[in-house]
Amino acid sequence: MRARYAGKHVAVVGSGHSALTALVALADLADTGTRISWVLRRGVVGDAFGGGDADQLPARGALGRRARGSVAAGHVQVVTGFRTEAVERDDAGRLVLLSGNGQRVSDVDQVVVLAGFRPDLSWLSELRLELDATLQAPVALAPLIDPNVHSCGTVYPHGVKELAHPEPDVYLAGMKSYGRAPTFLAMTGYEQVRSIVAAISGDHAAAERVELVLPETGVCGGAGVFDDPAQDQSGGCCGPVAAPEMLTLSAPSAR
Ligand SMILES: Cc1cc2nc3c(=O)[nH]c(=O)nc-3n(C[C@H](O)[C@H](O)[C@H](O)COP(=O)(O)OP(=O)(O)OC[C@H]3O[C@@H](n4cnc5c(N)ncnc54)[C@H](O)[C@@H]3O)c2cc1C
Repeated sequence: MRARYAGKHVAVVGSGHSALTALVALADLADTGTRISWVLRRGVVGDAFGGGDADQLPARGALGRRARGSVAAGHVQVVTGFRTEAVERDDAGRLVLLSGNGQRVSDVDQVVVLAGFRPDLSWLSELRLELDATLQAPVALAPLIDPNVHSCGTVYPHGVKELAHPEPDVYLAGMKSYGRAPTFLAMTGYEQVRSIVAAISGDHAAAERVELVLPETGVCGGAGVFDDPAQDQSGGCCGPVAAPEMLTLSAPSAR
């Protein structure tokens, strides 16, 4: 990594935890002359650093604090409202990022794209899945995880009911169940799998009894809000911050 990025101009594209991780790691190369341009689609940095001390997942909070520190220390040039439309090479062979509104990020040596992902569902195309058109998550789950609405980490407990599809006994669990939504945590996956296994084994009461409260991020407001803060009619989704609860897994009742 050091050889590739030391003394270089690096553009980091994206505003999620992976982008924050890259900013912190690249800022550690500041003594080699590494220059960092942080390219954001959103109009303001807003909550990109997360909830910091208010984050109930300390490691996630600490990551945001470190990234904020790297920006505050002047190691990172922040470029907002940048919707990348093209990446070109200049006469010297260096990269130029061009945005739809005429902005340019020039003299770039390396581009680190951390702009999220979406599920590969091509191999499931013969099955009757019911997916949200925007999120590509199961239609019953999508409203619970839509980052345009929920960014405070509020993901309501869900299990087999929200993960079911018209195709009988077919469930997407884990990261794939979240489609394009970025807030999946392993704890959620464990609970999803517990609920699915209970359903497949016929213990429908246990399958439907989902008991998980995820650690809050400590910040609120839908991702879309940050493209144009003036548009924020959502009023946020956040109720009072609930303390995380111990997960109780009940053994399937003797049949
Ligand atoms: C950078 C990053 C950091 C994260 N950090 C955290 C964290 O700290 N805490 C947390 O709770 N969550 C974290 N997450 C979110 C999430 O919990 C993890 O991504 C988790 O690994 C998701 O588990 P999964 O089983 O759904 O998918 P994965 O862990 O991605 O497992 C899918 C597996 O399927 C295999 N596979 C794919 N296609 C095929 C195929 N055709 N045939 C056979 N096998 C196949 C893959 O090789 C992979 O091993 C992070 C995510 C990312 C991207």
